[in-house]
Amino acid sequence: MIQTPPDTAVVLFDGKDLSNWTQLDGEAAVWEVANGAMTVTAGEGDIVTREKFTDFLLHLEFMTPDMPDATGQAKGNSGVFLQGRYEIQVLDSYGIDVPGQGDCGAIYNQFATLVNACKPPLEWQTYDVIFRAARVDESGEIEENARVTVLQNGIVIQNNVQLLGATGGATDEDAAEPGPLRLQDHGNSVKYRNIWIVPLPLKGSDVY
Ligand code: MG
Repeated sequence: MIQTPPDTAVVLFDGKDLSNWTQLDGEAAVWEVANGAMTVTAGEGDIVTREKFTDFLLHLEFMTPDMPDATGQAKGNSGVFLQGRYEIQVLDSYGIDVPGQGDCGAIYNQFATLVNACKPPLEWQTYDVIFRAARVDESGEIEENARVTVLQNGIVIQNNVQLLGATGGATDEDAAEPGPLRLQDHGNSVKYRNIWIVPLPLKGSDVY
């Protein structure tokens, strides 16, 4: 919904280069950048932000490729991992009547979207995400699950869901530590642009 990053935002990708990103092994990110967008470069693997985050507001735009002969998880698959742990699915799920836990906007294999807010392939779409990381006690046990609210193209698709734990393929194991934003290489040439995060304080004051 918010297209322009506010002054408090950490701009992660402004269309120019991947200097804020690495491959999972820490080497410089090698996905293709052209015309103000980055494209998943099949076989190169996932990329992650150099900076790590705990609670945040995220804005991101994506476009799925036109793959008319592909179906299901093979159709425009990518994903946005929050804190390196929780995948918001990216997929071409345009027109699906009853989106499932693997469809676009799902918390992968945990929560299907409330509604199908998908645009067709080759159209830019937005995710606006409010994320609250899990809270742990002194022994490291989770006291409060991570929570996420997601708007896709301005429509609420996830309403403060309590995540059940890391989704499949998570790379960051510590629920309370800051983690990177991670974009998935699932072999399909999904594009991304205009990615920024506003880190959020972990709590407000105790003052009335
Ligand atoms: Mg995926």
